[in-house]
Amino acid sequence: MQREDEKTSEGDFINFLKSNDVLSMESAFRILAAIRSSPLPFDVVVTELGLMTEASLADWLRIYLGVVQMGIPAPFSLAPGLENFDLDFARARAALPIGLENDALIVAFANPLDKGLIEILRFYFQREIAVRVFPRKEILAVIDAAADISETQTADDGVTSEQAAFDDDIDRLKDIALEAPIINFVAKMAQSAFDAEVTDIHIEPFSDRVQIRYRRDGVLSRSDTVQKSMLPGIVTRIKILSGLNIVERRLPQDGRMRLSLRGTEIDFRVSIVPSMHGETIVLRLLRNLNVSTDLSELGFDDEARHKIFQLAQASNGMVVVTGPTGSGKTTTLYSLVSLLNKEGVKIFTIEDPVEYQLEGITQLQVNSAIALDFARALRSVLRQDPDIILVGEIRDKETAQIAIQAALTGHLVLTTLHTNTAAGAFTRLRDMGIEEYLIASTIRGVVAQRLVRLLCSSCKEKNTPDCPTCRGTHYSGRTVIYEVLEASGPLSTLLESGAAETEIVEQAVAEGMTTMAACASRLIEMGATSKLEVSRVLNVEAVR
Ligand SMILES: [Zn+2]
Repeated sequence: MQREDEKTSEGDFINFLKSNDVLSMESAFRILAAIRSSPLPFDVVVTELGLMTEASLADWLRIYLGVVQMGIPAPFSLAPGLENFDLDFARARAALPIGLENDALIVAFANPLDKGLIEILRFYFQREIAVRVFPRKEILAVIDAAADISETQTADDGVTSEQAAFDDDIDRLKDIALEAPIINFVAKMAQSAFDAEVTDIHIEPFSDRVQIRYRRDGVLSRSDTVQKSMLPGIVTRIKILSGLNIVERRLPQDGRMRLSLRGTEIDFRVSIVPSMHGETIVLRLLRNLNVSTDLSELGFDDEARHKIFQLAQASNGMVVVTGPTGSGKTTTLYSLVSLLNKEGVKIFTIEDPVEYQLEGITQLQVNSAIALDFARALRSVLRQDPDIILVGEIRDKETAQIAIQAALTGHLVLTTLHTNTAAGAFTRLRDMGIEEYLIASTIRGVVAQRLVRLLCSSCKEKNTPDCPTCRGTHYSGRTVIYEVLEASGPLSTLLESGAAETEIVEQAVAEGMTTMAACASRLIEMGATSKLEVSRVLNVEAVR
């Protein structure tokens, strides 16, 4: 079940056997193929293939891992303090605690290459685990004797006991995730993130620890380090809360969970990806959007707000918002959609993923697993008689073509493009292979934007070292810097002729556009943000 984590050491071990002439090349391949396709434990696969006996496999595992051979004390009984250890779990995983060595717990394993199992036991017992290797049969016999179950009863269980083992794994993982320290940890982490106005929580496992980092105002900062042994519990807890498969540890999983924080229901978008040292998790806090649906609250001034709203009043054509990831494009589009959301208007959104649920709007999530991409989703939405369509992002020519077709045939299309500047939207579409006259006749306007952090008003004047408002970062809150390009009149003639980006910008400025850089300069002059912050945002986050 932790096949991916183990693969290296299993593979290494097989190579080790090959180089010691224990296995032929062909046998090694057979084992590798079998462990990839079988849910059975490594040692069972090897012995079932008839390539090694249990005893010889155990011997070679000891040599490979450099662990000493010892006997299981007979008659066997669980050490004081461990009496509650579940022998069903021990049987299912062929792992049995057999003694103490200094502070470490000595555990007999049939498959000592199962790092996930060792991790679970370390967490469960809160002790280091000293690995010893025994043939599976030997471990099971001791467990059966200890549990006072006759050997004959389990000897021919075969496949059914594997299924039972699988079910037991799930139960065990659930138990760990239901333990108070794990529940408290996850709740506290979410709570403190919520209180500190964090947007994302990153849970990152390394070889010896788990690091928790928080993204606030667009910048990641390191916060806590927790013991590596907490990871299985944390991962399982989050998987349970978001309805994900707790035994799947090889594939990425996405989900959503809802927690009640200070009396408010907060949704989290959950992304879990297997990494070198265990599953890494990113939680995005999806706050109530009410706080930011207003374009002025996002930081657009009255003039810009008016212009943007005018652009979106049209009954057809396309309005584009551009910027890199994390520049607030989606929020701007959501604000527009909320403004346009009236009775008598049918609005569809196609998103990847749906970030906020909007009342009265039909939202569609693209899903690569079922080949529902932007282009295909857009085609089906067009058959649903929409007035306004929000296309989360145009990434390819096919989507661009359908979106433009929709914009030409009486629909208003709102979308985003991953470009640095407003003028860049035209050249990006041209690069995708869309013809100039189509671009000129569909795009009504482009908003380019970035988010810059605002200087903390509590410590801006006096240099307070431990300012509680900004936690010493000197920044608190963010605002947009932007440029709004209206594609009409002389500019659209210029666009039809396939003008270069610089020409487009020149003409737009001549027609009164304030560039993003000018917008930023104004904020610096007002003392709202710093030069350093603006250059960080305009240069470091450059798209190309
Ligand atoms: Zn401050």
